[in-house]
Amino acid sequence: MHDFEILLDVIKSYNEEEIERIKKAYSFASEAHKNQVRQSGEPYIIHPINVCINLAKFHADGATLVAGMLHDVVEDTKYTIEDIENEFGSEVAKLVLGVTKINDIHFSSLDEARDANIRRIITSLNDDVRIIIIKLCDRLHNMRTLKFKESFKQQRSALETLSIFVPLAYFIGAFRLKCELEDICLSYLKPEIYEDLLKKQQRIKREYSHCIEITSKKISEMLDSNSIKYEMRSKLINIYNVYKKIKRGYKINEIHDLVNIKVIVETRDECYRVLGLVHKLFKPMNYKFKDYIATPKTNMYRSLHTTVFGPLEKLIQIQIKTKDMDNINTYGLASYWNQYRGMGSKKMQEELLRNYQFMSTITDLNETIKNDKAFIEKIKNEIFSNNIYVYTANGDIVELPNNSTPIDFAYKIHTNIGNHLSKCFVNGDEVSLDYKLKNKDRIIVIVKDSSHPYKKWLNIVTTSLAKRKIKEYFKSKE
Ligand code: MN
Repeated sequence: MHDFEILLDVIKSYNEEEIERIKKAYSFASEAHKNQVRQSGEPYIIHPINVCINLAKFHADGATLVAGMLHDVVEDTKYTIEDIENEFGSEVAKLVLGVTKINDIHFSSLDEARDANIRRIITSLNDDVRIIIIKLCDRLHNMRTLKFKESFKQQRSALETLSIFVPLAYFIGAFRLKCELEDICLSYLKPEIYEDLLKKQQRIKREYSHCIEITSKKISEMLDSNSIKYEMRSKLINIYNVYKKIKRGYKINEIHDLVNIKVIVETRDECYRVLGLVHKLFKPMNYKFKDYIATPKTNMYRSLHTTVFGPLEKLIQIQIKTKDMDNINTYGLASYWNQYRGMGSKKMQEELLRNYQFMSTITDLNETIKNDKAFIEKIKNEIFSNNIYVYTANGDIVELPNNSTPIDFAYKIHTNIGNHLSKCFVNGDEVSLDYKLKNKDRIIVIVKDSSHPYKKWLNIVTTSLAKRKIKEYFKSKE
C-alpha cells in the first residue's frame, strides 16, 4: 500500500473537515517538496506522510496532523510561514513555526548553537506541547530510516535521541514511542548486545507463551463469570529496559516484570474488583504491588500493578486499568490533549501545567537561568536524572531531584510554606532542614508565622526554585 493510503486509513476516525484539511496539506507539501529526495532514494514527501501517520496513531488533533504534514516546508522549500498562514490559518502556522525554530540538533556543531537549540526543544513544550509531539514523531521516522545514513551519523543520532528525545517522551508519557526509540538507539550504539538480547527476548517469548495462555484463560473465565467486560493483551518489556536491568546487576530470569498481561476494564471501581479477583487466582508478591491509580506517576501514568506467582513457576506482572488510563499510558500527553480537546489550546496548556510537575520546573528554570549551557545542565540534573518521589501528608506524590531537602520540598509545595518553614518530620521523626530526602519518604512540614528563611539555606537547597524563592525573600527585605 502507498504510504498516503496508509495515512488515509489511519485518519478514518477523524472528522470530514479535518480529513479534507489533511489532504489539502498533503497536496501543498507534495508540490513544495516535489524535486527533493530522501537518502533512501524515495521522494521526500514520504517523510512528512509518515510523520503524519505517527501523529495519527498518537490521536493528535487535526491541526497537529496538518502541521506535521507541513513541518519541513518552511525550512526546505521556497514557501514561507506567511504562505502557510494564508493557506492553513494561524494555529497551524504557529505549530510549523515552532517546529522550524528547532533545528535538527547536531552534536558536532558549535556547542553554543547546540545548547541554544536543545533549550528551544525543551522550552517549546511549554509554548505548545503539540510542537514536541510533532518533533518526536519526526524523530521517530528519522530513526526508523536511519539505516540509509553513514555509520557515524547513526551513532550521533542515537546519542542525541537517548539524551534528549527519550527523556522528553518519558515525561510526556509517550510510552510506546519512548520504548521504540530506545530499542532503535541500542541497536545502533551496541549492536552485539542488542542482537544478543533480541535472541533472549525471543526465547523468553517462547518459554512464557504457555504460561501466558493459561493465565489469560483463567483470568478471562473469572471475569466472564463475574460479568465484567474487559480487553486483555500481553506484552514483553522492551529490549532497552532488559538491558538497563542487566546493567544494574539483575539476571534475566530475576526480572519480575519481563512479561505483563494488561487487563482493561470500564471503570475505576472495576479495577480494584479485578485486582481482588486476580489475587484470589494467583498469590501476589506483596512488595511488588503498586497502586498508580490512587497515586499516579508524575507523568500521569495510572494503573494497578501486581506481580503474581503464575503457572509453571513463572512470575507475571498483571496491570489493571481503564481504557482512558490505557490511552494516556500509551500515548501520554497527546491522548490527554485529545480527551480534553474542546477546551481550547490555552486552557489546555494550563491544565497540563497543573498536572505535569516537570512542566512547571521547566518554566521556572527557563525564567531564571540565562545561560543555555547552565540551563541544560540544570534540566539534566533536576529533570532528566533519577529523581526521588516523596509523599505529602495527604499522600500526594511530589517529584524532586536527588539530594533535595525539606526546604526544597516546602518551596515546591508553596512559596509561603517555604518562607515560613519551621520544622520537618520525615516518616514520623523530626529531621534537620538539611536532611537529604529519600525515595518514598513521607513528609510533614510545620509552618510558623514567625519563621523565615536563612541565608545559609542557599547552600543547603538543591532546586533552583528554592534558591530563587529564598533570594526573592531577601530582596523583598532590603
Ligand atoms: Mn522532518
